[in-house]
Amino acid sequence: MAQNRRDFLKTLATIGVSTGAISAVTPQVAKAGPTNILSDNRMGVLVDATVCIGCRKCEWACQGAHDKVQQDFIEYENNDVFKKARRPDTNNLTVVNKYDSELLGSETIKLQCMHCDHPACVSACIVGALSKEENGSVIWDTDKCIGCRYCMVACPFQVPALEYYKALDPKIVKCDFCFERTKEGNLPACVEICPVEALTYGKREDLLIEAKKRIKNHSEKYFNYIYGEHEVGGTAWLYLSDKELAGEVFPKLGNDPAPGVSESIQHGLFAYFVPPVALYALLGGIMWLSKDKDKSEEKL
Ligand code: SF4
Ligand code: SF4
Ligand code: SF4
Repeated sequence: MAQNRRDFLKTLATIGVSTGAISAVTPQVAKAGPTNILSDNRMGVLVDATVCIGCRKCEWACQGAHDKVQQDFIEYENNDVFKKARRPDTNNLTVVNKYDSELLGSETIKLQCMHCDHPACVSACIVGALSKEENGSVIWDTDKCIGCRYCMVACPFQVPALEYYKALDPKIVKCDFCFERTKEGNLPACVEICPVEALTYGKREDLLIEAKKRIKNHSEKYFNYIYGEHEVGGTAWLYLSDKELAGEVFPKLGNDPAPGVSESIQHGLFAYFVPPVALYALLGGIMWLSKDKDKSEEKL
């Protein structure tokens, strides 16, 4: 019987509650709530897919800014890469994919962590390694990360990747919204390099105003929807396109924050003592589900 990640989470939520009920005689105290500060001034990026030319310079710049393996610049002009939709991974924190488009013939769209306002990954992390920062970034503490892959299962966009090649100490990796650069007043590397200003960095609320203005002034060009404005409670990265992105480029998601399921598991684990053997079984299940995610999911 096929089981997807979210089904698995729901199952675990049930197990967490029932395990808690069984172990209720020895409750543990720990509370595991996310630190979720939503500043009115939090930042975001408006991605205008109608402007993107698919040059993949953003991929190149991102790799350079994060000590990843960069190919020769010329390699990024090879359009063969568009034959198959890709997902962000440990060396490519952002990827550009090509999709069919009614108006434009094809449209290229950059993908990375969406930096959710209510990040499921933050809620799911059992050691508190992930956090939503006041400037909108969702970042993590590598020293705290135990490589359990809980965030990978919880993320509605299936973004975090695991360093499988580090067998003894794998950590999760994803776009960090160039936290170190923006802290110093610099633009995210991908935004800075984009030659056609398909990416706009700014206050999220200003970006929404700008996006609505573009739709109003060019209704013939844009699909009347800003992806990320409401999905899972809103995301820092917002998308304009000439077509509906939900269902093809992104999953169709509701407007409620995603952490509900993962939080209930986490609280089940922390509120009651779960024996190590149960925790290992849980982590084993997560590993089983996430080990071939690249094969099973081509869409973000
Ligand atoms: S897209 Fe996924 S990894 Fe990024 S903040 Fe949202 S839940 Fe976390
Ligand atoms: S914000 Fe930074 S880490 Fe994220 S995709 Fe852009 S360059 Fe990469
Ligand atoms: S650098 Fe800009 S134009 Fe080029 S692929 Fe990235 S978002 Fe699109």
